[in-house]
Amino acid sequence: MKKTIILAAAAVAVAGAATAPAFAQDKGTIGIAMPTKSSTRWISDGDSMVKQFEEAGYETILQYAEDDIPTQLSQVENMLVRGVDAMVIAAIDGTTLSNVLANAAAMDVPVVAYDRLIRDSGDVSYYTTFDNFKVGVQQAQSLVDALDMDNCDPCNIELFGGSPDDNNAFFFYDGGMSVLQPLIDSGKLNVKSGQTGMDVVGTLRWDGSVAQARMDNLLSAYYTDDTVDAVLSPYDGLSIGIISSLKGVGYGSGDQPMPVISGQDAEIPSLKAIQAGDQTSTVFKDTRELAKVTVALVDDILNDREPTINDTETYDNGVKVVPSYLLEPVSVTKDNIESTVISSGYYTADQLK
Ligand code: BGC
Repeated sequence: MKKTIILAAAAVAVAGAATAPAFAQDKGTIGIAMPTKSSTRWISDGDSMVKQFEEAGYETILQYAEDDIPTQLSQVENMLVRGVDAMVIAAIDGTTLSNVLANAAAMDVPVVAYDRLIRDSGDVSYYTTFDNFKVGVQQAQSLVDALDMDNCDPCNIELFGGSPDDNNAFFFYDGGMSVLQPLIDSGKLNVKSGQTGMDVVGTLRWDGSVAQARMDNLLSAYYTDDTVDAVLSPYDGLSIGIISSLKGVGYGSGDQPMPVISGQDAEIPSLKAIQAGDQTSTVFKDTRELAKVTVALVDDILNDREPTINDTETYDNGVKVVPSYLLEPVSVTKDNIESTVISSGYYTADQLK
């Protein structure tokens, strides 16, 4: 009886292999937890990963949590219950996942932190991201390059940080300040509000309307009889809010030029704002490449190969230094939109019209 069942099962397996080659390709299921659809970069990350995991023979479960921490936790729990073989997580709050990752570890499910470091957990296998300190350097350097320092001495600058529950936000800020602090110290730049430090300039959940409201307050408290010449913004979604606040009080019209403003993610509204002269720069991080590196890494882990990493020092998550793969960010201004986001096929020229 037992033998018959085994033989029958073998026959099904052979028939399956012969008639459905896709079946032989079924290498397992990958859970992909993304933070929000409110920013297009995460949509692109999710889509690229699904496509590339499927091409590599995996099934995927992709979920977005609309920036709500309990939702993300239950999505990750649910992926474990559904029996995923590995998980890729871009955390909303990088400090809230320790318990659920302990469950993953107990089930032998490897976890890759995607773009944002997961903190306070020993159960993160690897981290794939961009050189986040360099992103901040590029943001600040683009402002310094575009400022006409001789015409505003000192030049007034205001600083915005990302979400304080996102480890990246500190890297962006520190990278930016590595360029700006010496100029502040030498008196070339002046933070007129005096507001510096991530505890003061951070923007919870990267919310553009929060940045817009803070810019409104800065303008009415410190700039009624002076002009702001530069704004360090760590993300395009914040830059758009900041730009609308500035326009609301007359910047960008008459004899009141827009200050120089940075950004990140090469989102379409910001690329258009750069073309229009309202925003100075953004940072292009090719999410297709990040997906590619992540898919290869997960495939290596699940096939007992040693994954390729290029950084074993930078990302200490409070429990361990997480082995990482860092990609290079690219600074984008009006002058190189064509040779970066368009020539790489990230966007078509038509999308930016
Ligand atoms: C990402 C940035 C993004 C920000 C807001 C960060 O963790 O690295 O690319 O702009 O989150 O979504």
